[in-house]
Amino acid sequence: MSFGDAMLISTANVNSTIEIDAANLAVTVDAGVGLRQLIDKVEEAGLSLVAAPYWEGVSVGGLISTGAHGSSWWGRGGAVHDHVIGLNLVVPANRSEGYAKILRLDSKDEIFKAAKVSLGLLGIISKVKLRLEAVFKRSITYNFTNDAQIEDIYMEHAKKYEFGDITWYPSKHTTAYRYDNRVPFIAAGDGTYDFIGFQSNSVVVAKTIRATEKTLDNGRSSVFQCTLASTFLGAKKLVADGLKNNLIFTGYPVVGHQGKMQTSGSCLYSTGTDNSCAWDPRINGLFFYETTAIFPASKFANFIRDVKKLRDLKPENFCGVDIYNGFLIRFIRVSDAYLGQQENSVVVDFNYYRADDAWTPRFNEDVWEEVEQLAFFKHGAKPHWAKNRNAAFLDVQKKYPNFNKFLGVKRLLDPQNILSSEWSDEILFGKAGAKADGCALEGLCICSEDRHCSPVKGYFCQPGLIYKEARVCRYSSSSVESESDKTNLILD
Ligand SMILES: Cc1cc2nc3c(=O)[nH]c(=O)nc-3n(C[C@H](O)[C@H](O)[C@H](O)COP(=O)(O)OP(=O)(O)OC[C@H]3O[C@@H](n4cnc5c(N)ncnc54)[C@H](O)[C@@H]3O)c2cc1C
Repeated sequence: MSFGDAMLISTANVNSTIEIDAANLAVTVDAGVGLRQLIDKVEEAGLSLVAAPYWEGVSVGGLISTGAHGSSWWGRGGAVHDHVIGLNLVVPANRSEGYAKILRLDSKDEIFKAAKVSLGLLGIISKVKLRLEAVFKRSITYNFTNDAQIEDIYMEHAKKYEFGDITWYPSKHTTAYRYDNRVPFIAAGDGTYDFIGFQSNSVVVAKTIRATEKTLDNGRSSVFQCTLASTFLGAKKLVADGLKNNLIFTGYPVVGHQGKMQTSGSCLYSTGTDNSCAWDPRINGLFFYETTAIFPASKFANFIRDVKKLRDLKPENFCGVDIYNGFLIRFIRVSDAYLGQQENSVVVDFNYYRADDAWTPRFNEDVWEEVEQLAFFKHGAKPHWAKNRNAAFLDVQKKYPNFNKFLGVKRLLDPQNILSSEWSDEILFGKAGAKADGCALEGLCICSEDRHCSPVKGYFCQPGLIYKEARVCRYSSSSVESESDKTNLILD
């Protein structure tokens, strides 16, 4: 399919083969196979895939191409591409070879390190071979407690729990530590992790939450946002974030098979027309940004300290993020993938309200811009390749020591650059675009003048509150009053 210069290739129908090699603990799968289909098949064969993202609505080709991960510093770690032992890559061919050729790559090939995380820029992955382990069970307990120690204990947490993660609700001064380790297969329990955020929602409820959020944002008051955040956090504690011992949550620990404890997405299978994933664009439900920053492990503590300083100035400013899932903190290991991590790393995701259109500024957007700039500029985090606003990618190539090796492979495999586009260049090269009016509102630029924000709506380009080098769009009611005074004077 072709749209002007862009090219879209669907792997939806490249999904028929899942070949399990039980003797060698491996599976070879078509790139278009869905993650859930793969997990169920390998578990049926008495095997488990150790790493996977928390969301199952992805294809195998898509998830490895962007560096998708769960959480682990143990073994090969939480990123799925570090469990890939081979892949087939369809690349453009020269005239004498025909139109395309298939490269069969494994760890002996230098190109393999580029191809594992390659954003679709080197070729089309048609098959992926993944390492498996004998089937196993996990035992999970959430400990909801205060947030005093995150920066001191996150490393210990990652070392102690094979699949541990941490969810931080900054406005509530609360942290949920996930204690999550393997248990012997004979341990009693047939639990599931059906993450509450990925459960099916009534369309009416999703629309009502969106309408409420919009009203609260327009009203520029945190009071009700904070009430909503408290209600959601209370609900999450009550249902253990979606862990179920059987059909419901009856108490910790929840023990279950790896295939049911790592990855979820029950909203994908909503049967009625009135139920859906809350963010399904067809229902005009939730609409939000997701920022995901990947830190070298040792740098993460200072990021948390800075965010705490910002939070302590006005904790209610952080209620907007706690309506979603707070800050989800996960762990991934050092990788030999050129566009993977060079050291053990900590990944933090947070979601926050996005306006319906690109010209509407958001209440407290300065807070999220400051956190974003703290992460990517002050503390040197890298953006997750599949998430984030453009601003997070600025200068990204300087953060990857093997970036030029990746480009070298790109030139070799795709000399005519047919697999790149203007959009992929913006991400891969992290270049600042033209600074248009309002560009900072959607993260297309970092503001340097008021016009990059929305002066007519009272949002001006200002330094950060604790990171003075940051430049953020902040609301000022007095400026709006003086603007409207000016208008009144003119009208008078
Ligand atoms: C609700 C939700 C939750 C998520 N949770 C997590 C999480 O827990 N951890 C995490 O790391 N990520 C997470 N993600 C991000 C997700 O893993 C990535 O967006 C992933 O790339 C999606 O896979 P896809 O099959 O939809 O890929 P697509 O969106 O189709 O493609 C993504 C990229 O991969 C390339 N690509 C896809 N297939 C191929 C192929 N066969 N050959 C070459 N290139 C290809 C595309 O060109 C594109 O650049 C989440 C996303 C959502 C929507």
